[in-house]
Amino acid sequence: MERTLVIFKPSAVARGLVGEVLSRFERKGLQIVGLKMSQLSDEILNEHYAHLAGKPFFGEIKASMQATPVILCCLQGKEAVQVVRNMTGATNGRVAEAGTVRGDYSVSTQENIVHSSDSVETAKVEVARFFRSDELFEYKHPFTQFFYASDEI
Ligand code: ADP
Repeated sequence: MERTLVIFKPSAVARGLVGEVLSRFERKGLQIVGLKMSQLSDEILNEHYAHLAGKPFFGEIKASMQATPVILCCLQGKEAVQVVRNMTGATNGRVAEAGTVRGDYSVSTQENIVHSSDSVETAKVEVARFFRSDELFEYKHPFTQFFYASDEI
């Protein structure tokens, strides 16, 4: 099963949306295998958003991600990276489709509620960046047969 990283950004924590959004992922059928709160350091944000380091809004993004602690979540499921990315929606909440997290809860490009890994390779790096191996869990879901056909798992 694939694993992916979701960060509930300060826009979710401050607005009290963590439980509501996390429950969407649970109801979809994704399994929580890691969950914790963290105040993100400059160092880890420089790594996490290295692809945006040259942008004029880089300082703003970092400040925005440090405005409150965040909730870090590792979700597991078949093709979990794509499933979660589809549920996340486009970066800009104003154009993200209704029904996605950003489409339903955000009117902003920066304050867009969640981060989710954008590829299988990135997910591996990101999960390892934010979770130690002893913070991630492997456990059997008792109702797997009601989430997947036997040839899907
Ligand atoms: P995504 O989070 O959809 O994968 P990116 O990796 O391109 O998008 O950007 C990371 C985060 O940086 C975005 O989620 C958003 O919070 C912020 N961001 C991206 N582009 C802008 C922008 N033009 N202005 C302000 N913030 C931005």
